[in-house]
Amino acid sequence: MKYINEIDIKGKRVLCRFDFNVPLDENLHITDDRRIKAALPTINYALDEDAQVIVMAHLGRPKGKVVDSLSLKPLAKRLSRLLGKEVVLAKDCIGDDVKTLIQNMKSGCVIMLENLRFHREETENDDDFARELAGYVDVYVDDAFGNAHRAHASNVGITKFAKVCCAGFLMKRELNYFGTTLEDPLRPFVAIIGGSKISGKLEALANLIKRVDKMIIGGGMAFTFLKAMGHEVGTSLVEDNLIKTARQSIKIAKERGVKLYLPVDCVIAEKADPKVVTKIVPIQEIDPNWMGLDIGPASIALFREALSDAKTIMWNGPMGVFEIDAFSMGTFSLVHAVAQSHALTIVGGGDTDVAVHRTGESDYITYISTGGGASLELLEGKKLPAVEALNRAEKRMK
Ligand code: AMP
Repeated sequence: MKYINEIDIKGKRVLCRFDFNVPLDENLHITDDRRIKAALPTINYALDEDAQVIVMAHLGRPKGKVVDSLSLKPLAKRLSRLLGKEVVLAKDCIGDDVKTLIQNMKSGCVIMLENLRFHREETENDDDFARELAGYVDVYVDDAFGNAHRAHASNVGITKFAKVCCAGFLMKRELNYFGTTLEDPLRPFVAIIGGSKISGKLEALANLIKRVDKMIIGGGMAFTFLKAMGHEVGTSLVEDNLIKTARQSIKIAKERGVKLYLPVDCVIAEKADPKVVTKIVPIQEIDPNWMGLDIGPASIALFREALSDAKTIMWNGPMGVFEIDAFSMGTFSLVHAVAQSHALTIVGGGDTDVAVHRTGESDYITYISTGGGASLELLEGKKLPAVEALNRAEKRMK
């Protein structure tokens, strides 16, 4: 597929899909605008080329209905401030009014279409809806990496009807960091996998184990592995149905010479609550009625040492229930260790991204993905539907 800088967009009408699904507070103020900022290189490039830029995005899950609190109004306002120019918010994303608005726009102007998901046809990948969107413009640009694992009308269906299709600069960065690094990493290549359950990251684990030199496993999922190794883990999060799978992963790691690191101690409590009494114990000494909610200091030291010679580190998932201070030390210490390493460091979106920002270390991480779900699918070795659609469109255009 082609990227926006490989296509002639001079003076053309360009429709760009972004992932602007940002968090809002109860007064509908944006609490984190990083996803909007991540779109600026593509929009600025198009404006520098005197293109007419039409922005489309979704917010939340309105499920095909107009929900006032999910209007893109705050997003248009913020984008306008970041660009230093007016961003006109259309009343809808399809229909005659939108068509007229777009037909009358001048070069260098920016229009934002209203929430795509106010129409259920968007998530249903409806052809007529996609055709109408594509009909507005000369060039379609997909820069919505965070949505690339979904097959919707504005990122997959539209590629069947748009005259010219390409991807934006954010998509390029994300695919380079995940795709290229996974294919040809500088070694030692270390993966850190954490989070609540193995079930959510089973495929990523299986794919990574084939590629890495070391694998560090923390978070809730570590307890299924520890149980598979014969430890008593109290009431820690364990997926009993996956104990066999965990055993298999340990075997595969051994066969491939992959060094597997699991916690050697943990912070335990009777429940995940900010006010509970906590204890730090070796894995061998978890009380039967207590649960492991963070990795302990010995595990932090072990993981830090395992990371010390890494040339590439990929991380997805926290080491503990970091949302609660008492169980946050493991995750935050590991963020510092990753940030201080001399490796290429890539962090998946979602919770790990939140943890990195909470520590103030984000400037010291090589790349933090804007798409938790999409980056996880790349770690799983899957192809993203939106990228596949752009590739198909490119073949057709040739
Ligand atoms: P995931 O969405 O699978 O990446 O999981 C992230 C969640 O895992 C976070 O909200 C953490 O609170 C949670 N988590 C991390 N460690 C544990 C643990 N030991 N027990 C229960 N939940 C955990």
